[in-house]
Amino acid sequence: MSDVRQTVAPQVGDDIAVQLSDVHKWYGEFHVLKGINLTVSRGERIVICGPSGSGKSTLIRCINRLEEHQRGNIVVDGVELTNNLKNIDQVRRDVGMVFQHFNLFPHLTVLENCTLAPIWVRKMPKDQAEAVAMKYLERVRIPDQARKYPGQLSGGQQQRVAIARSLCMNPKVMLFDEPTSALDPEMIKEVLDVMIGLAREGMTMLCVTHEMGFAKTVANRVIFMDRGEIVEQNAPNEFFNNPQSERTKLFLSQIL
Ligand code: ADP
Ligand code: MG
Repeated sequence: MSDVRQTVAPQVGDDIAVQLSDVHKWYGEFHVLKGINLTVSRGERIVICGPSGSGKSTLIRCINRLEEHQRGNIVVDGVELTNNLKNIDQVRRDVGMVFQHFNLFPHLTVLENCTLAPIWVRKMPKDQAEAVAMKYLERVRIPDQARKYPGQLSGGQQQRVAIARSLCMNPKVMLFDEPTSALDPEMIKEVLDVMIGLAREGMTMLCVTHEMGFAKTVANRVIFMDRGEIVEQNAPNEFFNNPQSERTKLFLSQIL
């Protein structure tokens, strides 16, 4: 691990969880991220909002290297994301990701979904991995579903499994990409409640979501993206009550 840590960018302090400096990305000719600068301190809860197609998913997917950026720097917990595979592995271990469509392995039980990475990536003994998994399944309030397959669970339950699965890797940062957008309304709250619990315990979180109630109560900072740029960011109170840019005002008028 020490050799990986040698890539630490000197300007990054220990209290910084994620830092993006002038990050650009293109899909072919299409310039999707246009110079993103973002510093996330440990324990921050950031909500990212903005119109569809503005680059929100691309941005958070770049943070755990599901997408590759072409210019600028991304440093996660002191490790710079370059093509160095060791660094990518390190970052994937430390960054949990929850997707809109859960992305559970359908042929594995809930418990197996949760123990797979700890056993294979962290080399944890199976019984220990299962004990950890049960702890987090209890935390998301579905320990009784451990032996079932994802297809036998409701959407809200599956998303809670996805969160528990991420937590089993003891991540330093959690990324959420519209975690409640595919859920029926009655299941949104059970997922948001789990996320609120995580926030209370000090987890560093970046959440792409349209749940503005969540943003108001949980986020310490709301970021508005449009056309590949961070247009505006502020504490929720200021952001919602006193938006500065016309683009933010228009967006808020459409969703609130
Ligand atoms: P958001 O999450 O804000 O809706 P995305 O990051 O998913 O936005 O997408 C931003 C833009 O990039 C969109 O115009 C989308 O069509 C385009 N895009 C996303 N993924 C790809 C891809 N793999 N190849 C080409 N274009 C893409
Ligand atoms: Mg998206």
